[in-house]
Parts: sequence; C-alpha cells; structure tokens
Amino acid sequence: MPTDNEMIAEARARLSAERAKVVDELEMLNARLETKGDYGLGEGDPMIYEWEFNLVLRERAEQHLTEIDQALEQLDTGIYGRCERCGNPIEPERLAVLSHTTLCSKCAQRRR
Ligand SMILES: [Zn+2]
Repeated sequence: MPTDNEMIAEARARLSAERAKVVDELEMLNARLETKGDYGLGEGDPMIYEWEFNLVLRERAEQHLTEIDQALEQLDTGIYGRCERCGNPIEPERLAVLSHTTLCSKCAQRRR
C-alpha cells in the first residue's frame, strides 16, 4: 500500500500532466475558433458545424480545466480523494483513471 503522501504526490503529478494537456488543447481550439472570420462562413455552411463542434470541445476542455484546478486545490487542503457527496474515500482505481473526480463510483452512478 502506498502511503498518503505518495498517493498525493502521484495524484499531483498526474493532475499537472493532465492540466498541461488540456491547456494545450484549449490553445489549439482557440486558434481554430479564431479562424472563423477568414472562411466567411454563412448559415448552413458545412464548415460552421466544424466550428461549432470546436466550440463545444472548448467548453468541455474549460470545464475539465476547472475540475482539475479544483482537484489540485483539494490536494493542497488535504481533502483530495474524498467523495463530495457521501464523504467516503474515492476508490484508488477510479482516481487512477479520473484524477479530477470528486465523486465515488457509487455516487457518480447515482447521479446518472
Ligand atoms: Zn460517494
């Protein structure tokens, strides 16, 4: 069993790596979204769908970034890895896949 400190250090490294990836993604999406004017897009243009798709992706990436920042904050305050709904520890396997989650698998399933 890894100690709490090891777990926290690992989670922090994972979250930082994930954060860098999302920031890259956001920059790429922002660059793509900025080119809208150059195409002179009109209503019904197939390119507009791709543009709108990028807009949705950007919203998702921004949401993801907020969640990662929240998780990093929780690491600092020592409440990382606790389910915000039931207060039980979140399964380590779940955190390994979804480092930024704030719900245990039971509560996450209940939310759906
Ligand atoms: Zn829970």
